[in-house]
Amino acid sequence: MEISFHGAAEGVTGSCHMITCAGKKILIDCGMFQGGHELNEDNAEPFGFDPRQIDVLLLTHAHLDHCGRIPLLVKQGFRGEIICTAATRDLARLVMLDSAHLHEEEAKRRRRHGKGSEPLYDTMDAFDAMDRFGRNADYDKPIHLGRHITATFVDAGHILGSASILLELEEEGHKRRVLFSGDLGPDERPLLSDNQAPSDIDIVVIETTYGDRDHRPLNASVDEFYDAIRDAQERGGNIIIPTFALERAQELLFYLREGMERKEIPDTLHVFLDSPMAISATQIFRRHPEAMRTDVERMLNSGQDPFQLPNLRFTRESHESMALNRIRSGAILMAGSGMCTGGRVRHHLRHNLAHSDCSVIFVGFAAKGTLARIIVDGARSVRLWGKEIPVKARIHTINGFSAHAGRSELLAWHRQAGKPEITFLVHGEQEEKESFAKALKHTRVEMPKLHQSYKI
Ligand SMILES: [Zn+2]
Repeated sequence: MEISFHGAAEGVTGSCHMITCAGKKILIDCGMFQGGHELNEDNAEPFGFDPRQIDVLLLTHAHLDHCGRIPLLVKQGFRGEIICTAATRDLARLVMLDSAHLHEEEAKRRRRHGKGSEPLYDTMDAFDAMDRFGRNADYDKPIHLGRHITATFVDAGHILGSASILLELEEEGHKRRVLFSGDLGPDERPLLSDNQAPSDIDIVVIETTYGDRDHRPLNASVDEFYDAIRDAQERGGNIIIPTFALERAQELLFYLREGMERKEIPDTLHVFLDSPMAISATQIFRRHPEAMRTDVERMLNSGQDPFQLPNLRFTRESHESMALNRIRSGAILMAGSGMCTGGRVRHHLRHNLAHSDCSVIFVGFAAKGTLARIIVDGARSVRLWGKEIPVKARIHTINGFSAHAGRSELLAWHRQAGKPEITFLVHGEQEEKESFAKALKHTRVEMPKLHQSYKI
């Protein structure tokens, strides 16, 4: 039996791990490397294995850094079955199609600049990838992958449909229980159940994105969010919220609805979800009550819509989005991208940043070098489409809305798994991994390198 690591080994993106057992090769995730480099470079590198020899791909969740290389895997000959939860399947389709479109656009741009290059994969490749999706996994119900191999998906509480995956393996009488965390969510999210870990695990593979620190409490962040909205509303201008399309946008709609119902914020505010991807994702959320907390599931099943507000509009078409530029006050504009690196939010910033009665509320992580980070760090002006725009709007930064478990929650999850013989740390920067490793007890800790393999 063997385990090997082909992504998210030295870094946080590109998750891709492989188990070899009883003549079968099983892949866990096949994600995109993101950030820093040209879109295609790291991702176009060989996988480190032959995609034609993989029997099964188990997908923990639909974030791009976990599913983004699936169309490439299929393009290079993978003909096995992809298994994930029903919600992940729907979200992964959206994410892969969006990614294919971006790669096509990038290839067009390069061609215009005389650098001929094919897209990493295109829309047809994403459709081919969809044909490989087979059985849907229900939480906690084992799925047989072969005579001696079973996979059980367990709720990871990270985004809709997300799972940790338990593999029960046997080879020549040697039995192993191997648990892959996927990405783990923090406790007490508004839409999702808390993460869970099965017990008596021999081998753990755990993400360590926030292995070195805890987040601010969520309740305090929600209060801060309402404060920021009230403050902005009193000053009269628009409120821009740069937002990620998956989970964060739906959580914010949920909080806005609750805030309006509890009269924390006025229900007269006009809210625009100005992101085709977030709109499609919200529709997928509505279709999957089974993947949410029981109270939200009950709401949806009784015909109530947890994402509906009195004055909410979905602006999918670009002419509708452009019309928003004419609104001068009283609107909440939610648009991507979350870090303002592209997308419609940049247009809204261009039209609102220079007005002192407007506000921008940042509710997510902003990586160094991104426009979001530049504004958060207090820039007096920013450059958009060649024009210098002064930053006069009030800037709020709210930090507690993470989709990732903090250090204490990761440790609690690991404790639940028992006293594993080996714990592999992945999906974290070196610093986070080292800090987390020091806190782990009763286990041997390994920090695998890219393409490194271990006998287990
Ligand atoms: Zn994730």
